[in-house]
Amino acid sequence: MHQVFVPNLEVQSIYEIDPLQLRALGIDVVLTDLDNTLVRTFEKEAPAELIDWLNRFMAAGLRVMIISNNSNVRVGSFARRYGLPYIAVAKKPLKFCFQKAMTHFNVRSDSVAMIGDQLMTDIFGANRMKLYSIWVHPIERKTDGRWTKINRAMEGVVLKWIRSKQN
Ligand SMILES: [Mg+2]
Repeated sequence: MHQVFVPNLEVQSIYEIDPLQLRALGIDVVLTDLDNTLVRTFEKEAPAELIDWLNRFMAAGLRVMIISNNSNVRVGSFARRYGLPYIAVAKKPLKFCFQKAMTHFNVRSDSVAMIGDQLMTDIFGANRMKLYSIWVHPIERKTDGRWTKINRAMEGVVLKWIRSKQN
């Protein structure tokens, strides 16, 4: 039952993800969470390292979209600044936002990866849609919002189970 929370790939940071490796897996589209995945929850600007990362992904032929449960103001202002398509107030892990993204790019689930820092929303949502799920350790947990804190408590239980299977 917990399998739906197990990511296909686990990394410490987005910078460990190799765009060419994703291409080799047949990935065309990368959906990514924003807060605590790309930047800290209140960070308005992308560091140079992130812009470089985005450029490398796009140079590899990957199309990138931000999918976040945060507000239109927060997600829209960040995404527009860097010319990225986005879905705000996405309500992950519900399926609708992922379906909307696949329709936007006209792709099937087997060519889509989803990157995110939360098992209960990003990874669960991606897995139930059969996307390639990449779990990144959160950049900074102390800026988590109220709902995220609740999700993290459940995440702790799931994580214990995942680790027990890995060992
Ligand atoms: Mg997040």
